Amino acid sequence: MRWKEIKPPGEKKARVRAILLLSGGLDSVLAGKILEEQGIEIVGLTFTSLFFGSREARKASEEQGWPLVLVDITEEEIQILEKPKYGYGRNMNPCLDCHGQMVRIAGQLLERYQADFVATGEVLGERPKSQSRPGLNIVEKLGELRGLVLRPLSAKLLPATRVEENGLVDREKLLDISGRSRKRQLELAAKYGLKEYPTPAGGCLLTDPGFSERLKNLLKWRGRLLAEDISLIKIGRVSFEQEALLVIGRNELENEKLKRQALPDDVIIANAEVVGPLTVVRLKMTGPRDKTAERKALSEDFEMFIDELYGADSRQKKDEGSKSPGDENPEKTGLSQKGAGEEGNLREGSDGEGKENQLDSILEKPAIRKAALLTIRYSKARTAEKARIIFSWLGQKRVMEFRKEEWEGYL
Ligand code: SF4
Repeated sequence: MRWKEIKPPGEKKARVRAILLLSGGLDSVLAGKILEEQGIEIVGLTFTSLFFGSREARKASEEQGWPLVLVDITEEEIQILEKPKYGYGRNMNPCLDCHGQMVRIAGQLLERYQADFVATGEVLGERPKSQSRPGLNIVEKLGELRGLVLRPLSAKLLPATRVEENGLVDREKLLDISGRSRKRQLELAAKYGLKEYPTPAGGCLLTDPGFSERLKNLLKWRGRLLAEDISLIKIGRVSFEQEALLVIGRNELENEKLKRQALPDDVIIANAEVVGPLTVVRLKMTGPRDKTAERKALSEDFEMFIDELYGADSRQKKDEGSKSPGDENPEKTGLSQKGAGEEGNLREGSDGEGKENQLDSILEKPAIRKAALLTIRYSKARTAEKARIIFSWLGQKRVMEFRKEEWEGYL
């Protein structure tokens, strides 16, 4: 578990201190405000992963003046996603397991931060599964914190916790909110002068139907989830082929992101002569990696590749052209308008016949051919009679020409 003190909690000042699971959403902030009214000191705890960030929690901690601890749970979240004990919600969101894990981590930090209990913004009945009565019990059980999890917004509808029984919190001053209506929360927001707050669970990619579908397909395709694959399918158009995963950038910003997420043994594909998408092909044989050093090397190699392909000034033009990241039209974006170098030049710098032969056999794979044809289909070249595509793999380059009949099937 990796954690960071965004705003250090320091020494305990009040008689009672709570660790509050702070998403930054209205419910979590209200839970903190209600406790604060009783003189309880708040330490915010928030989480980040490949699926959600901490921006709203940081904002809330800033606005409320609460200390904030951030925990990166990417690895734990991936393990849960592969096999959630209590299943998924409507999409790929394993909310019961996920929330249980957050409570468990909060419990592990109680002693470190001299806190007496864990508070959450959960509201009974607000979500059909994870915030049902049995759901709240499961979260508490998974959190291994029996009697030390307080839900200030619904506490009066739930059995008294040890926190209330021991007089750390006055149960009478807690609330009895239940259900999906936000009316009482909005009244409380007005009372506490809270103006801007995000929608509940709005920031979690796992609740997004489109992304969930991709994730499901990824799990089926590889049989497990790898962080580097997940980072890739967050971008562009995605296609799962038997032997490879194809990801095609839809604009310059996505091309840039793909470049950053590509691994050294991914095949990188681009149009050789027109503006267009960058395509990354991840072969199934590519396993887990130690990415840091390799990605740096790849990035340098890739920049050289772009220079070699389009000329040394293309990167600058590309940077200038990246000022409209929201532009979804591939025709308006891409790498450069310049023509490709000669094929013979592109073979220069190859480091061994072995790799060349390997690249030749990789290029024969149907998934690579499909990736090339789609790269043409999503570029201006689709209206031409012929198009040239450049492939890059482990420092090796090839240019291949395709005819219109070959990509017409994808139009
Ligand atoms: S919405 Fe996402 S972050 Fe929140 S509990 Fe569910 S899976 Fe976890």
